Amino acid sequence: MSEDTRQILGAQTPYFRTPEFSQVVLECERLLVALVGAPSGSRAVFLTASGTAAMEAGVINLLGSTDSALVVNGGSFGQRFCDICRCHGIPHRELRLSGSDPVPYPGTGARALLLNGHETSTGRCYDLDESGAYCRRHGMLHLVDAISLFVTDELNMASQAIDVLVLSSHKGLALAPGLAMVVLAPTALAVLKERVPSFYLDFHPYLNDGIRGQTPFTPAVGILLALLQRLRQIHAEGVSVHIDKARALAAHFRAGIRGLPLRLHASPAPNAMTALERTDGGDARDLVVALKQRHGLVLTPNGGALAARVFRVSHMGEQRHDRLAALLVALHAYFNNPR
Ligand SMILES: *Cc1c(COP(=O)(O)O)cnc(C)c1O
Repeated sequence: MSEDTRQILGAQTPYFRTPEFSQVVLECERLLVALVGAPSGSRAVFLTASGTAAMEAGVINLLGSTDSALVVNGGSFGQRFCDICRCHGIPHRELRLSGSDPVPYPGTGARALLLNGHETSTGRCYDLDESGAYCRRHGMLHLVDAISLFVTDELNMASQAIDVLVLSSHKGLALAPGLAMVVLAPTALAVLKERVPSFYLDFHPYLNDGIRGQTPFTPAVGILLALLQRLRQIHAEGVSVHIDKARALAAHFRAGIRGLPLRLHASPAPNAMTALERTDGGDARDLVVALKQRHGLVLTPNGGALAARVFRVSHMGEQRHDRLAALLVALHAYFNNPR
């Protein structure tokens, strides 16, 4: 997180049922909708929750037991969409893939396609132009979880034909966890379910109250204040500056591991993050522990089936070249002396 963000998050939390706070929410919505290239007439809702709630809310406000979903399941976040559908009795077909497998889009469509633009558990990006074109061809809703793409990788709701976009505060936006966002294009707003099997996640009150810059329930006040500062900054500089910065960090890091027994776990890899696999037969968890103990460097381990093979390095937020350089020195030292 940036110094600006930390200052805002460390300050007193104001009372929020005020005209002043309404202005904060209205400007956040306006900037967010613009920064993701949403078509005119799009709306954003702000949920006090982590990103999974936005995934679930997006699904249950648009799909029910008489609809069908096609889910791209290439890792634990794709699996999460399947679990959400199962939990709510939404018929779904899974396109299960591993690593860099191409997406086997079937000839017959469904009501909606659910996919994670960047499957953060494997470090693999999907081609959103391709998924968008597929959805348009089959008259399907295109629901994209862009939680670990936003502000580090190319994202444009209009050109990628995205109807529902899921975002959260604590990945590329580099804010504290606790704020989740869903951006709805007019194509999605027009087909929202009348009845939603959740009280808290029903979009209707959020959309109504949002017209005057309020939320039906207590919002993540501090994070929204930090979001406004962050969106203003990104808007002023241009998203492309942030994407270029992440791209340069990723390129620096990936060039620096050449010669080490490491390879990218999947491709195409995003700018947001590098997911690496050990090729020397060693355990990724040992490396993560050793770097923490020897150098105080915290890498992201994987869970589940990839736990022993894969670990991840972020290029999001305030990541810097000097920190990645220190990490590269530590990685080279580790492989010279893994014990
Ligand atoms: C982090 C992340 C989420 C949200 O996970 P939470 O633990 O609920 O914040 C969802 N999708 C993707 C692709 C993510 O990287």
